[in-house]
Amino acid sequence: MRRMVDEPYFTHSAYSAHTTGIQVKCPKCHGAGVVTADEDNAYFRCLSCGHRMTQDRTVYRYDVHNQCRNCGRYYRVDIEDEAKQHFPILRVACPYCGATMPGEVHKMVDAFSYGAEIQGGKDPWFGLELWFLTSFQGKPVWALNREHLAYLIDYLSADLREKPPGNPKKTQADHLPTFMKTAKNRERIVKLLLKLQDT
Ligand SMILES: [Zn+2]
Ligand SMILES: [Zn+2]
Repeated sequence: MRRMVDEPYFTHSAYSAHTTGIQVKCPKCHGAGVVTADEDNAYFRCLSCGHRMTQDRTVYRYDVHNQCRNCGRYYRVDIEDEAKQHFPILRVACPYCGATMPGEVHKMVDAFSYGAEIQGGKDPWFGLELWFLTSFQGKPVWALNREHLAYLIDYLSADLREKPPGNPKKTQADHLPTFMKTAKNRERIVKLLLKLQDT
């Protein structure tokens, strides 16, 4: 009988970039690289060719705000079209009276991208493919790094799974899609994960 104790919910998540790092494929040489993050930026560093990238994690908002020349009211129009965000001046319509006039485009700090998630087997900041990525019946199966891979193998091959101390509502395993936890798939998924361990 293999027993395992599950881990707290955020042990392995995009937040791992702040601690252990996320392993990804280098876009230049396809070797292994690491994505890390701090409060301000996300960083990529290739372990084979030395390629590096930095991504500002700040999310900006662009708008034109002005006093309307026609109706005299103050208005704000958000500029969502990325192509237009970098123009210094744009012609926009007053949302109250519809009069069109040129206005200065303002750039403002909106928020930090804290809610980052792994989607489609790619890291959330650079969109780089995860190093430990395979698929099962057309669905992506991935691990963030070796620690996460070992956790998945441990979790899926156990006969008995226990919640971590404190009996939290959510645990690490709640991140897993149902197809991975289904009894009939588990053995084959563990085999795929074991193969990834050799890469
Ligand atoms: Zn490289
Ligand atoms: Zn107006």
